[in-house]
Amino acid sequence: MGHENGSQSAYDAVETADELVSWSRAYCRRAASDDDFDVDLHRVEWEVSTRAKRRAAAVKTPTVDDATVGEPRQWDGTSSSNRLGGPPTCTVSLSWRAFESFDRGEWTATLRHELVHVEQFQAFGTTDHGPAFKRRAEAVDAPVRVRRFAEPTYILTCEACGADVAYRYRECKLVRESAAYRSACCEAPLDCRTQER
Ligand SMILES: [Zn+2]
Ligand SMILES: [Zn+2]
Repeated sequence: MGHENGSQSAYDAVETADELVSWSRAYCRRAASDDDFDVDLHRVEWEVSTRAKRRAAAVKTPTVDDATVGEPRQWDGTSSSNRLGGPPTCTVSLSWRAFESFDRGEWTATLRHELVHVEQFQAFGTTDHGPAFKRRAEAVDAPVRVRRFAEPTYILTCEACGADVAYRYRECKLVRESAAYRSACCEAPLDCRTQER
């Protein structure tokens, strides 16, 4: 699979949610081995959210009783551990719209931030953005805050009635040749507006 190697060209080739997961997983596997993230990626599931959200990504975790960041968790033999021992599975949820608006550097920064959350959860049973998170993020070159993603750069509207027809984050054929397309509402050409960021 071409999306497995985490490269720029593979990143540019990502077109589907499955490909985004595949690329992001590959990046995280490499980050875990090269950059000393202490994470067990076998206990991480992935999903892509297509709903509009301001957060680029999030780690969804089960609630673990009496968990505190900084207090290492003994997973084996406790009720909240799974049958095989070790931490319960958590889910990294990626926003498709954020991916569309981020370049590779911003996306990998986002993944590194989420890896710190995974690391905290697997170590302590909970995660936050406190002082321990900040220290750890700095140590592994992850941002303490992930950029909230921007409004789309291009807005395509119907020339006849002015309705918004489509949003695009990057230049593409629809943006370059908007007048060649027709709106579904009025079968009229499209106007393309550029939004200030
Ligand atoms: Zn966070
Ligand atoms: Zn219209």
